Amino acid sequence: MYYNTREEFRQDVFQLAADGTSIKTLKKIAIKKRYNSQMAINLRIIKEDKRAYLIDNCATFVNVGFLQDGTEKVVSANFCRQRLCSVCAWRRQLRFIATTLPVLESIGIQKQRYIFLTLTVRNCAMGELKQTVDKMLKGWTALCHMRPFKRILKGYIRSLEVTFNNKTQEYHPHIHALIAVPDGYFDNKGIYLNQFEIQQMWQFALNVTYDPIIDVRAVDENEFKGETDNKPALEVMKYAFKLNNIEFSPVVTQEFHRALMARRLITFGGIIKKKRAEFNYPDLETEDTLVDGETDTNQFTHTILHEFTAAGWQIRL
Ligand SMILES: [Zn+2]
Repeated sequence: MYYNTREEFRQDVFQLAADGTSIKTLKKIAIKKRYNSQMAINLRIIKEDKRAYLIDNCATFVNVGFLQDGTEKVVSANFCRQRLCSVCAWRRQLRFIATTLPVLESIGIQKQRYIFLTLTVRNCAMGELKQTVDKMLKGWTALCHMRPFKRILKGYIRSLEVTFNNKTQEYHPHIHALIAVPDGYFDNKGIYLNQFEIQQMWQFALNVTYDPIIDVRAVDENEFKGETDNKPALEVMKYAFKLNNIEFSPVVTQEFHRALMARRLITFGGIIKKKRAEFNYPDLETEDTLVDGETDTNQFTHTILHEFTAAGWQIRL
């Protein structure tokens, strides 16, 4: 089954969808792979040929398993695990949600509440991203060690997100943190920190003279209940994995690459880290195979192996 044009692909997508074939997953990957082609071109220009090759050849084999209700799960695939790969960024995002919700649900909301914190710095120009990210992450560590903050910090998920503004040609790195605070935090004047106090501490931790913009909000308890994955705190965190690089120039690619290479975008701390360890999940950023590992393979009605060829997806039985 080969696709020579997009239209041909689209038509087949509908046909395959009607057959109950693994279309959602394949379609998603095909779109992400288009982003990857652009990224690979940029990487070759900046002499990162090996990474370009890996990204270009990510997810050429995808084995999809089907559950009774038609749900698709990725059983195995040759994901490249490169930081700037759009396919792998999407997989990490899904893996983050799948492995974080059970942890948070298991910790529960009995003995703690949650706040959602966004910490920013001034936008930075070309050539300044790496040092700005360094400064931010150092600032985060410093903040966690400041006594008033440490007192309320029972656990956290910290994510780093960097966006690029094409108009101003500036980078906007920021930290999102979901923080578990003691029960009664909001009524306890002895430990409660208002937005201004946190901002002052963040300024001190960053060691800057300007007032950095921050945002802090209480997380609604309902966000931790039910099966919905539309939980705002997690919704925002997952953007840490989102890559929209298609319009990026090679220079921007290089800057992202240098600033984010070998850097952890997500870290866990305190009770969240401890609870996560009990679940024995693979490391999100290094070892994870990025497949949907929770489903028992016996539950699949069938699996189909697809190969992505120059001509499009082909089914390998
Ligand atoms: Zn990849």
